[in-house]
Amino acid sequence: MKADIHPNYPVVAVTCSCGNKFETRSTFGKALAIDVCNECHPFYTGKQKTLDTGGRVQKFADRFGAFGKKA
Ligand SMILES: [Zn+2]
Repeated sequence: MKADIHPNYPVVAVTCSCGNKFETRSTFGKALAIDVCNECHPFYTGKQKTLDTGGRVQKFADRFGAFGKKA
């Protein structure tokens, strides 16, 4: 490699919101917190995933869950 033209590319710890942790390299240089990884992304799990951020899905169900129900 040519001297003094390459950025610093250290090993960083990555933490996913699903709890998975792994290491990679990045010019970012700090620990990364990610939302989705290969352990929990629907493409790899084959399962549908509902991202319930702040109980929004439950909030919607509470307000509009009655619609579509047969009396
Ligand atoms: Zn994950």
